[in-house]
Amino acid sequence: MWLFDCGEGTQHQVLRSDLKISQLTRIFITHMHGDHIFGLMGLLASCGLAGNVQRIDIYGPPGLNEYLQAASRYSHTHFSYPIKVHTVTPGLIYEDKEFSVHCGALHHRITAFGYRVVEKNRPGRFDVEKAQRLQIPPGRLYGQLKRGEVVTLEDGRVINGADLCGDTEVGRKLAYCTDTVYCDGAVELAQDADVLIHEATFAHQDADMAFQRLHSTSTMAAQTALAAEAHRLILTHFSPRYTPGNPVEFRDLLKEARAIFPKTEMAHDFMSYEVPRRRYSVAS
Ligand SMILES: [Zn+2]
Ligand SMILES: [Zn+2]
Repeated sequence: MWLFDCGEGTQHQVLRSDLKISQLTRIFITHMHGDHIFGLMGLLASCGLAGNVQRIDIYGPPGLNEYLQAASRYSHTHFSYPIKVHTVTPGLIYEDKEFSVHCGALHHRITAFGYRVVEKNRPGRFDVEKAQRLQIPPGRLYGQLKRGEVVTLEDGRVINGADLCGDTEVGRKLAYCTDTVYCDGAVELAQDADVLIHEATFAHQDADMAFQRLHSTSTMAAQTALAAEAHRLILTHFSPRYTPGNPVEFRDLLKEARAIFPKTEMAHDFMSYEVPRRRYSVAS
């Protein structure tokens, strides 16, 4: 389980969800404003109580390490498991066999980073039955064919491995951009993303406030998704001002974004979204 930002109350929401706090391994922090970090100390302390947390890696801007060290020193909090804080700079910040994570600069009142998570492509399933029907001797050849290589059999037949493999599972891409006013950095992070999670603090009619405070309007979020050719946009980080009865209501933010980028949703507490896979054939 990976967590992006940790506002106040995050641990309580985790407890009320199907997620297990003990599964948490990585936390990515965008910037040092309170609404993105005030839940961190409580959550990390709870992870210690949960007992079976192995280690937590936290990625974030300069100042995060000092903040956590001061908070644990002055609150006499000692963690029973290792916590490693990684101060990020734009570029690749994490990679394993399955995923890579890049971060990029956003445009906000203080240093802020967005994140892009890319799942690696997985080769399609090797069709063993088809290989058997073609009477290809099992063993070393299967390995080559599985990798999509072209092999020549002893009887002279030439077999293209791609013809025996199912469609490649294309790795999914997720971008997380908050807090920011419209900027090229966000468009870059969201390039071809299967899902872009973007802040939409204000409605378009309050665009002057968005520029002043360096936040996005719903329109800016949609323009980012459009420019990046993202496949879905999920809006979050709403101002509480758009309550029912106001000239602009909460649901108007959605209308506003959909007029520009139709595949837009609004995030809500406990929302779960399974990112669909896109497929293409190895042969093509
Ligand atoms: Zn902020
Ligand atoms: Zn914020």
